[in-house]
Amino acid sequence: MPQLYCWLVALADSYDGFLIDLDGVVWLGHEPIEGAAKAIAALAAAGKPFVFVTNSPRVTPAEQARILREQGIEADEDRVVTAGDTLLELTRKEIGEAGKVYAIGTSGFLEQVEGAGFQLLPAERWQEAEAVLVTGHPRFDYDELKAASMAARAGAFLATIGRDPTMPMPDGLWPGTGSIVAAVEAASGRTAVVAGKPERPIFDLGVRRLGLPEGARVAMIGDRLDTDVGGAQKAGLEGILVAGNESHNPETQVTPNHNISSLLDLTD
Ligand SMILES: [Mg+2]
Repeated sequence: MPQLYCWLVALADSYDGFLIDLDGVVWLGHEPIEGAAKAIAALAAAGKPFVFVTNSPRVTPAEQARILREQGIEADEDRVVTAGDTLLELTRKEIGEAGKVYAIGTSGFLEQVEGAGFQLLPAERWQEAEAVLVTGHPRFDYDELKAASMAARAGAFLATIGRDPTMPMPDGLWPGTGSIVAAVEAASGRTAVVAGKPERPIFDLGVRRLGLPEGARVAMIGDRLDTDVGGAQKAGLEGILVAGNESHNPETQVTPNHNISSLLDLTD
């Protein structure tokens, strides 16, 4: 333990701050990864600013923070940046604080949209929509597709959290947000702006949340070569790959700035 613990601190010393992925790094499907809490406590003890950055659409930052605390990781909602947060910030920039939004997503996502101050429109009032926000949810239907695509075709800002077409479930791959976005794009003839990893907006928001001065050296720590490491490098950051989830990594030209075997190894 002491050797690897010191190595983490040494790695921390070469950066001013970190963005840390959750699934596959801190937990797997909310099952804690052994050693992650201790490793994160070590980062905190080293005085390095860090925030958790996740594409997960299904829970709010406050809920993510609560799960982190249950796993012994000190975190409040400001410590978590989600693709949903980033999507709402992009939308605010496009249509203002209290604009009219038609949104597709879980009840939790719709609550987040309303909680952020936007006016949430029912499907039959799609003509009023200034923005159309698309995320995955299990009751997606034709009326939603119709409202979203017609509003987008009429010129509403069209944005989503990500383009992952599927999500792994116990009985195989279920259609994910990307499949629903593809349907809205096909029906509207528009291309959605993407807030989440590997696109730049979520990295920019994460870095701003760190509160570091211009030119600070920031690394993203994640388990996906394309989404985490490649996305971070395109956004001007460095990428540290936590191995162990290789089935998710397509063939790619991306080279991580550092490889770590897993946070579990830190306490072995
Ligand atoms: Mg991950």
